[in-house]
Amino acid sequence: MKIPLVDLRAQYQLLAGEMNEALSQVLQRGDYILGQEVAEFEREFASYCDCRYAVGVASGTDALHLALEACGIGPGDEVITAPNSFVATASAISFCGARPVFVDIDPDRFTINPDLVASAITEKTRAIVPIHLYGQPVDMDALCPVAERFGLSIVEDACQAHGAEYNGRRIGSLGRAAAFSFYPGKNLGGCGDGGAVTTNDPEIAARVKQLRNYGQRVKYHHETLAYNSRLDTIQAAILRVKLQYLDTWNRRRQAIAASYTQLFDGCPVELPKSFEGSSHAYHLYVIRTTSRDELLHHLNQQGIGAGIHYPIPIHLQPAYQSLGCRAGDFPKSEASCREVLSLPIHPLMSDEQIEQVVLSVKKYIGQHDLMMAA
Ligand SMILES: *Cc1c(COP(=O)(O)O)cnc(C)c1O
Repeated sequence: MKIPLVDLRAQYQLLAGEMNEALSQVLQRGDYILGQEVAEFEREFASYCDCRYAVGVASGTDALHLALEACGIGPGDEVITAPNSFVATASAISFCGARPVFVDIDPDRFTINPDLVASAITEKTRAIVPIHLYGQPVDMDALCPVAERFGLSIVEDACQAHGAEYNGRRIGSLGRAAAFSFYPGKNLGGCGDGGAVTTNDPEIAARVKQLRNYGQRVKYHHETLAYNSRLDTIQAAILRVKLQYLDTWNRRRQAIAASYTQLFDGCPVELPKSFEGSSHAYHLYVIRTTSRDELLHHLNQQGIGAGIHYPIPIHLQPAYQSLGCRAGDFPKSEASCREVLSLPIHPLMSDEQIEQVVLSVKKYIGQHDLMMAA
């Protein structure tokens, strides 16, 4: 039995009727660009995130980029973030003409360590991009006062955290703005690329709307230089269908995580941790072990789609050589990149599949222990 890391075909089988109907309606209306489903999805997604506004854009990367630009981030500015993310977190900062400045992580959460942020702040610092990586909320109670003290905007990277909560509030409503991705494999994913910026600030929402649509509010009146970065009506129609299942699917992810955690009890791998007041969206279930590469190889050979998120921290990527960072600059992030392993946790996984993943991990560890003892 193969167990994929994500299973989009199973999702389609379950929702084929509704998804086909949603597509057919868009095709019949032909309102492909900023059609009625985009506005309806924006209303529904804003309400889901406990926010006043959501603005649909072409991808999560663009959501980050346009949210930062709408917050006034530009050339010469510095923006603080963590280096153990997907590269897009940093590239969105660079696309504004600003410089990403990295701060190491709290290894218990895999997210930015708020205690280290103040020492990275300079006169040029304008914003912080906390990443709710894997679906685990950042320790915002510790981070927000630092941002406030130095007058910095917070733009959440919520691309892995649709539906996660922090002190009873939805992720996406905790900063000046937040960026979501609807890449197909995310907790809420379309049939292609998509993204959204959420905010409670009407000016930020209005600026993102202008930035995604050539800088115009009135057709052919271009007030600022801007982009073409709109959420497709077809994607919005699909996302409206799937948004109705997001809470159920997130609860299933949490149940799978709870099963893993119980079944791995006593096993010498590090498991994801829970924090009082935080509700984890389990976009990924990430374990930690020093024999990560061998375990990954073993699982893949058994047909289990485990993965690494991410193998190289952003400050050591060739694309960011110009920042002048070196190996050893962010030791907690670098160690996590060597040791993290994501196990399958898609919501349509069966209990049998969960047990098979656990058995397979335990089998490897048993062999490994025998090898070490010999
Ligand atoms: C997916 C992701 C992005 C980028 O989203 P795209 O829709 O692929 O552009 C940014 N940050 C994080 C943490 C992500 O997981």
